[in-house]
Amino acid sequence: MNIIIKNGFVFDPLNKIDGEKMDIFVKNGKIVQSLSPSEKKNAKLIDATNKTVMPGGVDSHTHIAGAKVTTGRMMCPELQYDTPISKTENTHCGSGNIVPSSYIMGYKYASMGYTTLFEPAIPPMLARHTHEELMHVPIVDKGGYLLLGNNWFVMKYLKEGDIDKAAAYVGWMLNTHKAYGIKCVNPAGVENWGWGMDVSSLDEANIHFEVTPREVIEGLCEVNEILGCPMSMHLHANNLGHPGNWEITRDSLDIPKNIGVNSKQQDIKNIVNLDSENNEVELEKTKIAWEREQNIYLTHVQFNAFGGTSWKDFESGTKGIIDYMNKSKHAIIDSGCVIFGQTICMTGDGPSIYGLGVLTGGKWTNCDVELECGSGIAPMNYKKKNGVHATQWAMGLELILGIDDPWKVIMTTDSPNGGCFVNYPQIIAWLMSKKGRENTLNEVHKWASDRTDLPGMDREMSLYDIATITRATAAKCVGLAHKKGHLGVGADADIAIYDINPNTLDVNDYDSIVNKFSCTEYTIKGGVIVSKGDKIVDASSGTTRYCNITMPDEQVYQDVLNDIEAWFKKYYTFKLKNYPTTNKYLTNPEAVNIGE
Ligand SMILES: [Zn+2]
Repeated sequence: MNIIIKNGFVFDPLNKIDGEKMDIFVKNGKIVQSLSPSEKKNAKLIDATNKTVMPGGVDSHTHIAGAKVTTGRMMCPELQYDTPISKTENTHCGSGNIVPSSYIMGYKYASMGYTTLFEPAIPPMLARHTHEELMHVPIVDKGGYLLLGNNWFVMKYLKEGDIDKAAAYVGWMLNTHKAYGIKCVNPAGVENWGWGMDVSSLDEANIHFEVTPREVIEGLCEVNEILGCPMSMHLHANNLGHPGNWEITRDSLDIPKNIGVNSKQQDIKNIVNLDSENNEVELEKTKIAWEREQNIYLTHVQFNAFGGTSWKDFESGTKGIIDYMNKSKHAIIDSGCVIFGQTICMTGDGPSIYGLGVLTGGKWTNCDVELECGSGIAPMNYKKKNGVHATQWAMGLELILGIDDPWKVIMTTDSPNGGCFVNYPQIIAWLMSKKGRENTLNEVHKWASDRTDLPGMDREMSLYDIATITRATAAKCVGLAHKKGHLGVGADADIAIYDINPNTLDVNDYDSIVNKFSCTEYTIKGGVIVSKGDKIVDASSGTTRYCNITMPDEQVYQDVLNDIEAWFKKYYTFKLKNYPTTNKYLTNPEAVNIGE
């Protein structure tokens, strides 16, 4: 079906369109310049007068599938009982407001106007499980990042200084598990946690492999660029959740600053578009360059920007990170904002969750994935009257408001760690409204006012800024901005229409911003209307995007394959032939071809 979205206020930062009143034309799932008169006659017309039109949201870091979310649901069944969701003509039943069941994840994201999601922590051995669960997250396009920062073979090759073998191994792993990006969690530390230890500085070597966090971060950033991956190396830094960790975070960001960006994504070069007469034309370039410019993408920085030396003198340490980000060009972050209320923390960082479990005195779980990685899970309740929690809430907002350039920061909660993604509209309202922030500052523990810079921050983000940090920046960061996160000719027709009139929008009407961003008037995914108000009208599956890497050196690759075969026999508990994730585990697999 062809669609005309008429007369909306369009916010499309990649094309520098800031609230211009215009029409958007959709044909064969793509945005086109216009439709022919006969196509116009048969097109579905959506009157967007006095409405806000944005590209579909892109969430580059949200825990939506795999062992961690499943375990989280099992650990807290009471949170699922509370929120049953009935089936409808088009949708499955389900439950959950914190870790919604798989189908509900897709419906809720789509209703909020999000159309592309990335699961940020796939354990290689559990990649099949993760993809099986992603299969049941409908509507949205998706992909995932593979945990590689504590992998035995990666650490061994890096220790031996054999960067080419490390690259060939990582390339093989991404191909084998149909993963989209490289993830590194608490480098060198999670391996130590298998022996009841952690690492606490960038130059502390772990046991057995004697590799340091610095070597792993630098090595994986280099590997990422040797292979030419679409996105930057994705880092969860060391010492997460420890007072005073902002310094190691800043120093981690600094490690790859001299490594050149080298994306070898083939589809950017080959992409074509159809004009109104069905002639192939070259894709129109966006006004802001769509190529990624960074070589490191640091995640949920709020949890890694703690100041002070203990929980007693705990304070925000965001200033050091904000200053660093404002001065540098090679790094990008997502915020990891905190929302008040019950949630469940889950991460590939086992020792940090152990720390949290001890602190809260509640239940926690830990998992070690042989030779590869681990994880931890603990329920968490962020309380307004708790000094640390209130400070964390303020810090998430400080990071987004303090970094001057919205092309360097993405709005996330590290869902569900800082709070479930369904609460994103609350964060948007706080970012847009100083009064909204002041109201909350008055309600919460005074540390939020005394130990952060939030009270002095006057910035009120515009709809254009919000579109940037929830769509355009995330799409560019993961190397998808040639087709996602914008509304230019040739882009995928992923579109969110909100009942927001920018001319009458009152940013002090905080509740109304929350309501309006909670549910679109229409969400369009790949040219299909998928939700209308709070109703899902089409719940077909999106694509699963993964890297298909051509190895830079065939001989090195063959040597690495021989190593893998030998190591599998020696160390793994199962056979190599049972290891790979095949296409049958993916919905609409879409290989992103990398290299020659
Ligand atoms: Zn995360």
